[in-house]
Amino acid sequence: MICLEIPKKLRPLVDQARQVGEYVFRPISRKYDTAEHEYPKELDILASLLKGMNEGGGGTGAGAGGLSEKKKADGKNRNGGNMATVLGMTELCWGDVGLSLTIPGQGLGNSAISAVGSAEQRKRFGHLWAAMAITEPEAGSDPSAVRTTARLDGDQWVLDGEKIFVTCGERADAVVAWATLDRSQGRAAIKSFVVEKGTPGMVVDRLDKKLGIRASDTATVSFTDCRIPKDNILGSPDIKPKRGLSGAKKTFDNTRPIVAAMAIGVARASLELTRELLKRDGIVATSYAGTQLTAHAAEAELYRMEAELEAARLLTVKAAWMADNKIPNSVEASMSKAKAARVGNHITLRCVELCGAAGYGERQLLEKWARDSKILDIFEGTQQIQMLIIARRLLEKPSADLR
Ligand SMILES: Cc1cc2nc3c(=O)[nH]c(=O)nc-3n(C[C@H](O)[C@H](O)[C@H](O)COP(=O)(O)OP(=O)(O)OC[C@H]3O[C@@H](n4cnc5c(N)ncnc54)[C@H](O)[C@@H]3O)c2cc1C
Repeated sequence: MICLEIPKKLRPLVDQARQVGEYVFRPISRKYDTAEHEYPKELDILASLLKGMNEGGGGTGAGAGGLSEKKKADGKNRNGGNMATVLGMTELCWGDVGLSLTIPGQGLGNSAISAVGSAEQRKRFGHLWAAMAITEPEAGSDPSAVRTTARLDGDQWVLDGEKIFVTCGERADAVVAWATLDRSQGRAAIKSFVVEKGTPGMVVDRLDKKLGIRASDTATVSFTDCRIPKDNILGSPDIKPKRGLSGAKKTFDNTRPIVAAMAIGVARASLELTRELLKRDGIVATSYAGTQLTAHAAEAELYRMEAELEAARLLTVKAAWMADNKIPNSVEASMSKAKAARVGNHITLRCVELCGAAGYGERQLLEKWARDSKILDIFEGTQQIQMLIIARRLLEKPSADLR
């Protein structure tokens, strides 16, 4: 039987994440939206707390790193790290999406290391904050077009190429960079490599100025004759033509529900504030039952958006639950992201419209939330790419047939 309550053991985590969202993120939300590229030093204390929780084994860290640490389920039917991260991330992003993306030690690269790294690598790189560098000027939605190369030279891999849009690319201690061992062999030759900051040949070229999530740094990083130890490759260096981008898929199956959770958090924040602001204008949204015919148009709109948000939330917890229980969840992970990001974009923007001047002005955070929400329908695979993945799976078509 499916129980849709928040699991008892995860309630403290959800409460803590909510408090961080409310008392740490919200007060500095506008500050780091305005001061783009300034490091949010207030988060350092949060990072130490999360690190302590993870090291102590008692926490279910609400972030990519925390997720992956707890992922090693013991085969029992359970709610584990994926559920914890999804629920925690919802609350953190209710506070602020950009700040949630820049919590030290909780990068997407950390998820990749945990998902595909060996036990030795997880130990060696465990203390690092790792960003993920897949996208290139010529490789966005289609990662198989990656042009960054990696060649073996004695005991070292030599990387050459340029990565764009690297979240935490400047602040993180390392990046997990995707590179091809042999372009002629397509997807199967693409591998990921951990490159630590300070490695000669790795340069952060610039930071992007963005529409939203301005508290999070987005960098262009280049590699020129960049030499890293041979055992910094994640997974096997063997090129197995039938395996494709399996390591990446494994990571995305875990991380897409997290992005969905982010969208749910910020959309819920918008809905809650809109309810409050409309109440001041005498529009009181109480309960759906019995009010359908008499509801004010704005009130009815709130109910519709709440229903959409709940549908997205249910898809998201399902995808996370499946991951925790080792049930293949590629379709559900993509469905949750496609639905939640689309609904999140719609809700945050509609709330701006519903609240008039309060929605569009900078006194409230509604306009910021609409800007922050947009990226959630772009990174980790756009809306269109999620649809494509779902269609391929449902129709059992290979990517060569449906693209
Ligand atoms: C703020 C920000 C942070 C990011 N962080 C990271 C990060 O940390 N690491 C990283 O590697 N990348 C990151 N990205 C990159 C992000 O994942 C890509 O932008 C995204 O995958 C889309 O790639 P693209 O921008 O090259 O668009 P394109 O691939 O050029 O797509 C452009 C448009 O065409 C559509 N499209 C493309 N192919 C198809 C198709 N086959 N069918 C239908 N429609 C299609 C897309 O949906 C999109 O709407 C980030 C991007 C941004 C903006």
